[in-house]
Amino acid sequence: MNFEIKNKDAMGRTGIIKTPHGTIKTPALMPVIHPGKQTLDVKKFGAEVVITNAYIMYKNEDLRAKVLDEGVHKLIDFPGPVVTDSGSFQLSEYGDVDVTNKEIIEFQELIGTDIGTSLDIPTPPFVKRDRAEKELEITIKRAKEALEVRGEMLNSVVQGSTFHDLRSSCAQTIGEMGFDCYPIGAVVPLMESYRYSELVDVVMASVKNLPDSKPRHLMGAGHPMVFALAVAMGCDLFDSAAYILYAQDDRLMMPTGTFKLQNLIEMPCSCRVCTSYSPDDLRSMKKDMRMKLLAEHNLIISLAEIRKIKQAINDGNLMELVEQRCRVHPYLLDALRNLKNYTAEIDRYDPSSKKAAFFYSGPESLARAEIKRHLSRIERIPGKKNLLLLPRSRKPYSKHIKDDLGKFYIKHVKGEQVVDTEDLMNDLQVSFVDVPFAVIPMEIDEVYPLAQNESPMITDEDARIFVRQEVEKYINQFDNAIINAKVLDRFNMYTIELEPIPDENENAPKIYSLDEFEFEPFKIKVEDRTRISSIADYQFGAGSGEALFKGNIKIVKSRKTGKIRHVYDGETLIATLRATDSVFVLDREGARRLHSHAKYPKNRVVVNEDAEPFAKEGKSIFAKFVIDCDINIRSNEEVLIVNEKDELIAFGKSILCGHEIMDFKTGQAVKTRKGGI
Ligand SMILES: [Zn+2]
Repeated sequence: MNFEIKNKDAMGRTGIIKTPHGTIKTPALMPVIHPGKQTLDVKKFGAEVVITNAYIMYKNEDLRAKVLDEGVHKLIDFPGPVVTDSGSFQLSEYGDVDVTNKEIIEFQELIGTDIGTSLDIPTPPFVKRDRAEKELEITIKRAKEALEVRGEMLNSVVQGSTFHDLRSSCAQTIGEMGFDCYPIGAVVPLMESYRYSELVDVVMASVKNLPDSKPRHLMGAGHPMVFALAVAMGCDLFDSAAYILYAQDDRLMMPTGTFKLQNLIEMPCSCRVCTSYSPDDLRSMKKDMRMKLLAEHNLIISLAEIRKIKQAINDGNLMELVEQRCRVHPYLLDALRNLKNYTAEIDRYDPSSKKAAFFYSGPESLARAEIKRHLSRIERIPGKKNLLLLPRSRKPYSKHIKDDLGKFYIKHVKGEQVVDTEDLMNDLQVSFVDVPFAVIPMEIDEVYPLAQNESPMITDEDARIFVRQEVEKYINQFDNAIINAKVLDRFNMYTIELEPIPDENENAPKIYSLDEFEFEPFKIKVEDRTRISSIADYQFGAGSGEALFKGNIKIVKSRKTGKIRHVYDGETLIATLRATDSVFVLDREGARRLHSHAKYPKNRVVVNEDAEPFAKEGKSIFAKFVIDCDINIRSNEEVLIVNEKDELIAFGKSILCGHEIMDFKTGQAVKTRKGGI
């Protein structure tokens, strides 16, 4: 089986899975088909893949004879990819199944399933550790046995109850065995009891230890309310029996929650069912007919949510969708709040540049990977002696500094009080303070997402505290800080700034004066040379600007916008500043200079001999030809393509992140810009 990533956002990905019965575009929802009594033709509504239960067919003599004769695709009348479950669900419901692991795997192969499943033990959440360990041992033993019976096209389910270490070690163990797909099992009880925060822990403990190159299936997650969150954590497949089960119970699923038909005075959506029938029409129908219509609504809504998620990944606003969805129930909001404990993991996979702007939707947005990454990357810009902090304005901030900003205050971080204003203006770092990126050095204020973000005009308390803490950390790197009163006001910094810190620690920063300080901030400008150098440092690492832009530097600006476009050394193009996100796209000379500056393996993707001629011709790099890379590469970054001797042969834009580049054996890793260096 073959899985490729097409697009990424947070830990989510869109991709394709190739199976003998066709291609599945992920994320995908697999409607559960009952082999004996299916009522809805799911392909009519756009289902690309379905899941059905092998155990039910195995147990029922008539069905077994029929499916062995004509195959599972014919039996359930679905020509596309069919995944089968093994009977684990029955095991978890009724405690026992009378089939062995080997028998059910062989049976699944005989009926022509596209992806089969071994008979794992679904250990429920919150059991005693003893039991979880014992059952996990059996699950792993059966996974091994499954591989011996059928070497490929198999699921292996991550179990381990709610013990994170057991989930992690299970994921690691079966992850190394080379299965084709990894379901995360026994999470239904968590979802049924709205324990979404624990769901986050279980999914993250599993996903971060599973191979990136294989699809992951969140088993039993059939409510569209959780799809976006699960996808953002790296889940690719969902199954839904819920569309039928909810319909049987006269309930309508929406991505924003569930409606009971008995309470409805209006139909809640615009699908065929909801526009053709009123709640009264439905209520007065025979149960069977009503069930079928409600199931249709539920399926349409669920598949539409999956499509919306794919679009969000393409646009780069998946987290905005997750933040919306997680506000539909307080316990989903818990899940979003818990996700902040996993920012570091998400950051590794989150693309460095996206099409969509970053929208701040509330305090939970402060945990987004983009903010963490920004605050660590500003350390790459060379330090200065003095700091000037300015308030927010229209973006980009540097173009909209107001003439009259009112009062300024001085904080002498190190050393004695300095009154010489000339001195303060020397070696000055100008930075802006805003939600959510806290401090934005003027030189890089057009780089994505620092100019491509929006936050409310009214500042919430969490943002205030967050920004205040980050600003304090930042100020402490300078000798003197001149702070605009609007910054102090907005983030309520007076409480800290006005009170001199007690003398217990002699080295602690002190405030010597808060006198009004007069100067004209609007005259402050960033030199173009400083700007390009700082952007390069921020983008490629400390010292990159100096290395890239040496010689007879010529900066060409756009006639229309006045923005920097190209940087040359004499007649040789080094790099182009991309208008949409203000990051550098290298040219040959830029790639050469970055290569001689950055130490191996930084910024590099290393390809084997076979790929070298193709790379030199400017052809894109497939993951299977990569033998090493800088593990910190994020997708959508400029990367250097080198051979085993670290000779530069081409350069391009990463499609995958470092971890994925190393794990994938299929699909593109780098889109080459130019070869032949
Ligand atoms: Zn509807």
